Amino acid sequence: MSKKYKAIPQTSIWTCLSTINFTPLSIRRTRKLAPTPRGNTPDRHLERNPKIAIIEQGTVSNFRTENCLLSPNSIMRNLEIASVFNQIADLLEIQGANPFRVRAYRRAALNIEGLADNVETLSLGGTLDDIPGIGSDLAGKMAEIPSVGPKTAKEIYDRFRIETIEDLEALCKTDKLLCVPGFKQKSVDNILRGIELYRRRRGNYLLGRAVPLARALCEYLESAAERIAYAGSLRRMKEIVHDIDILAASKDPAKTIQAFLTMPLVESVLAQGGTKASIRVQDDMQVDLRVVDPQSWGAAMHYFTGSKAHNIRMRERAIKRGLKLNEYGLFDASEKRLAGAEEGDIFEKLGLPYIPPVLREDWGEIEAAAEGKLPNLVEPEDIRGDLHMHTTWSDGKYSAEEMLDAARRRGYRYIALTDHSKSLGVAGGLSDEDLMKHTEECHRLDAKYSDIRVLAGTEVDIRQDGTLDYSDELLAKLDFVVASVHSGFKQDRATLTARVVRAMQNPYVRVIGHPTGRLLGDRDPYDIDLEEVMKEAARTRTCLEVNANFHRLDLNDIHCRKAREMGVHVIISTDSHNYDDMLNLPYGVATAQRGWIEKDSVLNAKPVEEMLNFKKTR
Ligand SMILES: [Zn+2]
Ligand SMILES: [Zn+2]
Repeated sequence: MSKKYKAIPQTSIWTCLSTINFTPLSIRRTRKLAPTPRGNTPDRHLERNPKIAIIEQGTVSNFRTENCLLSPNSIMRNLEIASVFNQIADLLEIQGANPFRVRAYRRAALNIEGLADNVETLSLGGTLDDIPGIGSDLAGKMAEIPSVGPKTAKEIYDRFRIETIEDLEALCKTDKLLCVPGFKQKSVDNILRGIELYRRRRGNYLLGRAVPLARALCEYLESAAERIAYAGSLRRMKEIVHDIDILAASKDPAKTIQAFLTMPLVESVLAQGGTKASIRVQDDMQVDLRVVDPQSWGAAMHYFTGSKAHNIRMRERAIKRGLKLNEYGLFDASEKRLAGAEEGDIFEKLGLPYIPPVLREDWGEIEAAAEGKLPNLVEPEDIRGDLHMHTTWSDGKYSAEEMLDAARRRGYRYIALTDHSKSLGVAGGLSDEDLMKHTEECHRLDAKYSDIRVLAGTEVDIRQDGTLDYSDELLAKLDFVVASVHSGFKQDRATLTARVVRAMQNPYVRVIGHPTGRLLGDRDPYDIDLEEVMKEAARTRTCLEVNANFHRLDLNDIHCRKAREMGVHVIISTDSHNYDDMLNLPYGVATAQRGWIEKDSVLNAKPVEEMLNFKKTR
C-alpha cells in the first residue's frame, strides 16, 4: 500500500472510478455500453471479465468497510483518486500481474497527483488515456468525434489499432490514412478538425445553459435545506463552466442529500456520502452538492466560489493578520471563529469591502478593494434599452411591434430595431427601399407609444473592403447604426483590422457589433487587432458591443477589461431574434462586470438623449 495515501480509506473504488467516468479493468471496448448505474453497483462491471473480476472483488471487499460505498469522501479529489490507483497497483502486484500494467497504474497515480487541475474536470484526454492497458474505448470515443462516425472509427481502429486520440491525431498527420480506400485528404482534415472540436466541447458547458439548470436545481432543493445556492465558476459567471457546484446549509445533511439524489433530473449517481454527493444530469453535466453547517455557510460559499487564485490571496491576507481562513470560517490563533456564517463578514474581518464573485479572479480585486477602488460595476437594472434587435423585417421571429411590446414589458426606455442589411441575403437583409419602409415603421411605432423611444436602426454589414452596405445618405436617415462583420472571416489580421477601423470612421456608425465574431465552441474569433480597434473606437467615440448572446459573449471579459483601460464605451445588447433572446442580457452584463466595466462607460445605461449625443453624427 502506498504509505502516503493510506489515510484515505473511506473510498469505494467503484465510486471513485465512476466519478471520473472511468472503469479501467472492465472497459476495453464496452465503455459506451456501461453508463454508471444508479447506486454504483459494482457487479455489472465485474461480469465482463471474470479473471479481472476476481482481482476487483478482492479490491472491492477490501474497501467495503461499513461506510465504504456511501463514504463521505466519495467525491473524488486528485489525491484520493491517485491513492486508489496506487492501491490497484498494489493489488495487481500481489496477484503477479503484468509489471507494465502495474507500472501504468503507478504512473497514472503520479500523473494525477501532479495535475494542477482537478482530475474530475479534465476530460478523459491525455493523461488517463495514454496509459497502456488502461486506455478507454478509443473506437467508441472516435465515433463521438464530429465527422468520424462509427463506421470510419471501426475501420481506422481495425487497421491501425491505435490506442489514444493522440495516436489518431498523429496518424492523420502522416499519409498512412490516405492509403485506405475511400480516404481523401479532405476526410483527414475533417477528422483533425473533429478532434479539436471534440476536445474543446467535452466537459464544457455554456454559461447560458448552466445557469438556468443550476437555478432549477436550487429551487427544487430549497425546501430540503436552510440555504442553498450555486458556487464555483458558475457563480463567477465564467463563459464556460465544467460542472455545477451546489452548496447547501443544513442541520440534516442526510435529508438534503436524499432530496438531491432523488430529483427527477438525475440521470446517474456518481458518488454519495454523508455531506457530499455527485450526480450527472442532462447532457452529461456533472453536479456536485456539498452540505455544510449553517455556521460555515459564508466561508464555504467563499471557498467554493473561488477562484483558486483569489482564495490563495485571501488566505495570505488572513495569515498576515495572524488569522486562518478556510472553508469552515475565519479563525484567530486560538481557533476562535471570527466569521463564517455570512460571506460578507469574512471580507469585513479581513478589512475589505464585499468583493462580488464576478471579480474574484485575482485580477487586482483584492488590492482595489483594500484601497477602496473597486469598480462601480454596471448592473442589469442599469440597462435602459436594447440597441441590437432583429424582427421579421429580416431574420427575427417576431414583428417590430411584438418586439417593442416585449421591450416595454421589460421596462426599457428605448430600443433600436437593427435588422440586417442587403448583402446578408441569407438573413433576409433589407434592400435600400425596404430599409426606408422599415424606418417609417419604426417612426410610426415611436409615435404610438409615449413610454418608450423606438429608434430606427440597422445592423449594417461591413463589406470586405471596409465600406458599408448602405450609402451615407441612407444611414443619415437612421437613428442608430450598428456595423458588423458577417463575411470574409478568413482575411488576415491587417486587412480585417483596417476594415473595422474604416467602418468606425463612418460618422453614422455608433457601434461595432460582436467585434471578434466568435461562436463559443463552434467558431474561433477572426484574427483582428483589438488594441488597434479600441484605439480608434476611443478616438471616434464608437462603442464596441458586448453581445449578450451566451453563444457569443463578444467582447469577452478580458476584452472588456482592455476596453475599460483604453477608455472605450460599450453597449451591452442581446442581438435578439426572438423574445427568449432578450433574457440573455444578464450574461452580457456579467461579462462586462468580469471586465470591471462601470455603469458610466455603458452607452445603453445612459438616458436616450445623452446616448444619442455620444458620437456626434454630423
Ligand atoms: Zn450580427
Ligand atoms: Zn444581429
